[in-house]
Amino acid sequence: MQKYIDQLNEAQREPVLQKDGPMIIIAGAGSGKTRVLTIRIAYLMSQGVDAFSILSLTFTNKAAREMKKRISDIVGSNEAKNLWMGTFHSVFARILRSEADKLGYPSNFTIYDSQDSVRAISAIIKEMQLDRDIYKPKQVLSRISSYKNSLITVKAYFNNPELQEQDAMSKKPRLGEIYQNYVDRCFKAGAMDFDDLLLKTNELLTRFPEVLAKYQNRFRYILVDEYQDTNHSQYLIVRALSDKFQNICVVGDDAQSIYAFRGANINNILNFQKDYEGVKTFRLEQNYRSTKNIVEAANTIIDKNKTKLDKIVWTANDFGPKIKVHRSLTDAEEGRFVASTIFEQKMQHQMMNGQFAILYRTNAQSRAMEDALRKRDIPYRIYGGLSFYQRKEIKDVLCYLRLVLNPKDEEALVRVINYPARGIGDTTVEKLTVAANHYKRSIFEVMQNIDKIDLKLNSGTKQKLQDFVTMIQSFQVINENQDAFFITDHVAKKTGLVQELKKDATPEGMAKIQNIEELLNGIKDFTEGQREIDGARGALSEFMEDVALATDLDKDTSDEDRVALMTIHLAKGLEFPHVFVVGMEEDLFPSAMSMSTRSELEEERRLFYVALTRAEHQAYLTYAQSRYRWGKLTDSEPSRFIEEIDGQYLEYLTPADNNYRYKPMIDSDIFGDVDKSKLRLAKPVAGTPPNYVTNNESKTDINIRKLKPVSSNASSGGANLFDNKLVAGNIVMHERFGKGEVLNLEGVGADKKAEIKFEVGGIKKLLLRFAKLDVI
Ligand code: ATP
Ligand code: MG
Repeated sequence: MQKYIDQLNEAQREPVLQKDGPMIIIAGAGSGKTRVLTIRIAYLMSQGVDAFSILSLTFTNKAAREMKKRISDIVGSNEAKNLWMGTFHSVFARILRSEADKLGYPSNFTIYDSQDSVRAISAIIKEMQLDRDIYKPKQVLSRISSYKNSLITVKAYFNNPELQEQDAMSKKPRLGEIYQNYVDRCFKAGAMDFDDLLLKTNELLTRFPEVLAKYQNRFRYILVDEYQDTNHSQYLIVRALSDKFQNICVVGDDAQSIYAFRGANINNILNFQKDYEGVKTFRLEQNYRSTKNIVEAANTIIDKNKTKLDKIVWTANDFGPKIKVHRSLTDAEEGRFVASTIFEQKMQHQMMNGQFAILYRTNAQSRAMEDALRKRDIPYRIYGGLSFYQRKEIKDVLCYLRLVLNPKDEEALVRVINYPARGIGDTTVEKLTVAANHYKRSIFEVMQNIDKIDLKLNSGTKQKLQDFVTMIQSFQVINENQDAFFITDHVAKKTGLVQELKKDATPEGMAKIQNIEELLNGIKDFTEGQREIDGARGALSEFMEDVALATDLDKDTSDEDRVALMTIHLAKGLEFPHVFVVGMEEDLFPSAMSMSTRSELEEERRLFYVALTRAEHQAYLTYAQSRYRWGKLTDSEPSRFIEEIDGQYLEYLTPADNNYRYKPMIDSDIFGDVDKSKLRLAKPVAGTPPNYVTNNESKTDINIRKLKPVSSNASSGGANLFDNKLVAGNIVMHERFGKGEVLNLEGVGADKKAEIKFEVGGIKKLLLRFAKLDVI
């Protein structure tokens, strides 16, 4: 341990060695904040703190996995495995499952992804016969999402005339009703959306003091990375859980706060000192990531922001090469420049693909880059685009699986009730939906009772509905005894999905079948690793939980060497030797949607700061003079952000642009001291501007657990050693389920099982042959 502490600089060492009490580390990019958190956790453990009582919240689950791995290297994997690490969403989804009954939810609640949510909202808008051009489903959802993240429940909404007025002013007087219907619909379907995972956790901790006490006692040490981007809902959770022991350590950088548009509240970091007593504040100043050129250029950028904490960032690293600026005629040419530069660099310096990242402001910009990389045969990987689990054929299979677990799940049901086609038309589905709303039951329950309800359906249709119900029920029966792989394979075949895809002999059609095979491979992997649970069964429910929270940044476990393409938002916390920031153009970056107020522009500038500080050695800024936007070739001007960097740090690869017309920044001179929230009132929706973030992006802070469980090799080690000694009453520790009490033992030899009541997650029956348990 000492070795690792010695490797830290003085300023980093202090917060590591400060064991107890509230503390905040505010420091610029690349100064070792994440590293300090990691070493601090290892240090706490070396001081006798039980891994089980440490909760660490990260921006992605990938970050959590990496942290855990490093800690394992220091303290040993046996020690590290019990740490609770992950994103807010993954950690609290886990807790919600074990407490779901308190909130009236089934423990196997479905997690709706943003597509499911949009679909549900669309359906509601249609049922309410509202104008879709005014009530745009995505906008409505983003509005609801911002309410949820501010803990404004439906009831609170209707008690707040100001909010209602605000929605009325933006021509959506019935937003509250949509909100109400959406919440009812989710509840009826046994489903939570992403925002619910936080909202319901808050509800749980507020309404049930005994639950709060349980988790307060459990998580004696809480650590949060990227604290500047926590929203109100997350803030309250952290606040509540840390209230008893006040051992809370948060790290962040106000200059990297880039999620205000989604409710992140920079005040969480600014007010931390006020929230706890005796807060110790630490600052780190030395950047270890980047060259002097990059660090100093980044400093000159962030200096332009008025709202910021004063911070020093310096580096002892070399000056390194200047930041290269490149202009091209079109976006296609920009793509070619990036691809050929990567190609040349790889040739000249034996570099790997993985040492390059291409960052952009909006997902749509990836296409030109992809085309160019493909032409050069450079392998790449897009993060935050359509993830594997969002592909149509995969979602179809998953929706059947969701129904198996929770037949009330309406979004899943509506999606597959007539796919593959089985003669259940839209009109029938509409009738079912109306009846379901009328009886306050799920569509599935209506279908189960179709004989007793007069929906004016002909007998043929009724039969088809009953056949569907029978099919899902037969899957449920099979699911009781089989593992996730068996049931998925069965579902893919018996529903006719695979046959349907086989009809399409085009390469795209074949690719879809391969995707389903890939899904099955993934599930096989999963079930093999899960054999220890409930006597040789990797349950579908566990697999689906992993999937529901999966984002592709987290799934990146492959060793394939690829260039990384992602939005700047997604790149937070990461680092690459070479970074291209492309599309450095006015209206694109800064985005046209975010220039109307100083604070919006400042957030864009912070985003640029994040982009540039991802680079270790070489940064490129590229822009095109024209590009296709909304189907039209549009002229563009270089981004003001290029101009804002002191020229000494830049090298222009192309002659500077004569047409360059610098747009003056819209300043407080124009807006005076107008409160930003009031300015937003005038906008159609005060939440996410439509172009600002895509659906997929909106999931990116959601953590994803790896497909493979931690215990991938269940047959080695573990309980075999002591399974004879285990008796009822023993307190044991399990690597995934944590602490529990042995209630009962049954069976002999290889079939010997222990019934264990875990503190979190309830009673489970484990086959001792596989279970890795330690008696404590
Ligand atoms: P960001 O703000 O981008 O999240 P950060 O402050 O979390 O950055 P880290 O990612 O922890 O910074 O560290 C940046 C890089 O510097 C990493 O590669 C890390 O290993 C390295 N580093 C940090 N501290 C030291 C140190 N004392 N000695 C050597 N390398 C260090
Ligand atoms: Mg970090």
